[in-house]
Amino acid sequence: MKILVLGSGAREHAIILSLRSEEAGHEIFAAPGNAGIAQDATIVDVDMLDGAAVASFANERGVDLVVVGPEAPLVAGVADALRERGIPVFGPGKAAAQLEGSKAFAKRIMDAAGVPTGRAVRAASAAEVEAAFDEFGAPHVVKADGLAAGKGVIVTADRAEALAHAEQYLPSGPVLVEEFLTGPEVSLFFLSDGDTVRPLSPAQDFKRALDGDGGPNTGGMGAYSPLPWLAEDFGGVEQFVAEVTETVALPVIRQLDAEGTPFIGLLYAGLILTPAGVRVIEFNARFGDPETQVVLPRLRTPLSRLLLSAASGHLEDEPMPEFSDDVAITVVLASEGYPEAPQTGRMIEGLAEAAAVDGVSIVHAATGAPDAPGGSLIATGGRVLNVVATGSDFSDARARAYEAIGRIALDGAHYRHDIAARVAG
Ligand code: AMP
Repeated sequence: MKILVLGSGAREHAIILSLRSEEAGHEIFAAPGNAGIAQDATIVDVDMLDGAAVASFANERGVDLVVVGPEAPLVAGVADALRERGIPVFGPGKAAAQLEGSKAFAKRIMDAAGVPTGRAVRAASAAEVEAAFDEFGAPHVVKADGLAAGKGVIVTADRAEALAHAEQYLPSGPVLVEEFLTGPEVSLFFLSDGDTVRPLSPAQDFKRALDGDGGPNTGGMGAYSPLPWLAEDFGGVEQFVAEVTETVALPVIRQLDAEGTPFIGLLYAGLILTPAGVRVIEFNARFGDPETQVVLPRLRTPLSRLLLSAASGHLEDEPMPEFSDDVAITVVLASEGYPEAPQTGRMIEGLAEAAAVDGVSIVHAATGAPDAPGGSLIATGGRVLNVVATGSDFSDARARAYEAIGRIALDGAHYRHDIAARVAG
């Protein structure tokens, strides 16, 4: 197959590595890509936010499938532009992508579909926010409605801080005040063709910057899959996945279809396992990072086939995706100063030595080639790269990942040392 992947992050690199691992030998294009993706795909000069430009590239080159990685092109309607022209595309249209783009839209869909989520109130003024705080009690959860690059949500016991956060967003529209939920968080991905869903394997990410869940929130510092501890409350990973498919994914997909906005692409359910049961905290309309890095290396069913079946409305012909018994972990290498003020432009050394560790692959997020030819790669952002390791158990996978990351040199870089430590025992 000829496949075009849109995006430039670790998520897209992980997708491309998975496609490359298939026996079929696909021709893979990427736009805009990054320095790591450039080693595994042909980088093409196409504006990923311009649906007409992506479509004409796809037509000229006879591309069989376009995979939209990030949310920006989805919200810009790139998938709609491709679908209108009959080009198979994995990614929802603008209307269905509102599931991620608007928390209020997501809440309405969940209410209409009877999906379990935290109680929430739309508050349009400071007085309404305060009334909601009184109703739910502390700690307070306030969510901005639109895409806020991960900064829209605050969870705090400090009422003044929560109110100040709400007031920052109120001028541009109502905010959501939500009841506080406690329990472990799980990310579960579903492929959807608008009608049928196929679940992938659950993962957990580590959002805080420092060991022991200290420091500020980040885009994610590591992840692991599967989640053996699900066996305690749900009888096993499979039972958990089946329950969430029935109570969350299918009702949401059916509701969107009934409203004339079918969801074709990846439904990412961010879940919290409260003592009262599973609750949805958020949906995303695309693969999540870093979880994708640990889910796809375990996938045994060819990813290209699943994505094409979803894009062309034939997912019901696909059996359940199969996963290996191996486990996977990923550890993020971040630039000095991340997340507040990442230092960029520094040289990265030791990548070949790291990749030489058995069971390890390097997934690039923010790497670039320096101006001088033949030089090492440089860091171009906060989360620079990821060391993904598979193994027969978590202590095996951890040993490989940390051996490999120790071989990489990037001045001032930091990473968490406790990814999947608890499950490794
Ligand atoms: P979101 O952007 O909705 O995923 O929220 C970001 C993070 O805030 C989540 O991953 C949770 O850790 C936390 N969070 C969101 N909603 C709640 C809630 N209702 N109760 C407790 N924590 C929450």
